[in-house]
Amino acid sequence: MNIILLGPPGSGKGTQSQKLVEKYKLSHISTGDILRSQIANKSDLGSKAKNYMEKGELVPDNLIIEMVLKTTESIESILLDGFPRTINQALSLEKEMNILEKEIDHVLYFDVPFEDLINRLSKRISCKNCSKTFSKDDKEYFCIDGCSFQDLYQREDDKPSAISKRMDTYKELTEPLLEFYKTKDLLKKINANASIVEVSLEIDKILQ
Ligand code: AMP
Repeated sequence: MNIILLGPPGSGKGTQSQKLVEKYKLSHISTGDILRSQIANKSDLGSKAKNYMEKGELVPDNLIIEMVLKTTESIESILLDGFPRTINQALSLEKEMNILEKEIDHVLYFDVPFEDLINRLSKRISCKNCSKTFSKDDKEYFCIDGCSFQDLYQREDDKPSAISKRMDTYKELTEPLLEFYKTKDLLKKINANASIVEVSLEIDKILQ
């Protein structure tokens, strides 16, 4: 089974990914996580991507497409989280899947009102080791991988100046993908403005 998670920043794709990977034995490809680890490792790709990411802009298609397609080749069941984010990326993915004789089975669209997203993102803190995210409102934080409290930080692009840019970018470049996948009859809309458990149950109903 190959799945795409589509939705604005802060809509809960990363949180649900962790559950889906375990439950359905999928390989998680989060382009944001890959890019952040490239930046931490000071790689060539990381240094090219850093500026765009900090400003809340998309990293150019050519860099992203090459990075993702290199990985998808060798994987059986994929969970794509944060890719594709442009029509160009979606077309490249489609072409690659055709070559590999694979198919996308579901595109899960995480629907959350924009006002709630801004609130969620500005309170989000992330673990720099395992990428798990928490809210500043959470009573306790615990990383599954035993990461410590010092590993938690606020992402540069979760700060107010970058959040509004990310939302504009989403509306302009990523939202058109909803229509793209709707016409292919792959789009499944999820009410992601609900608890983690409720969202997870709604996804299970679609996948089972
Ligand atoms: P995320 O962790 O998915 O919110 O991604 C963080 C940032 O990484 C985005 O704001 C972009 O700058 C960059 N990024 C992640 N995925 C992509 C993509 N598919 N295309 C372009 N840029 C991306």
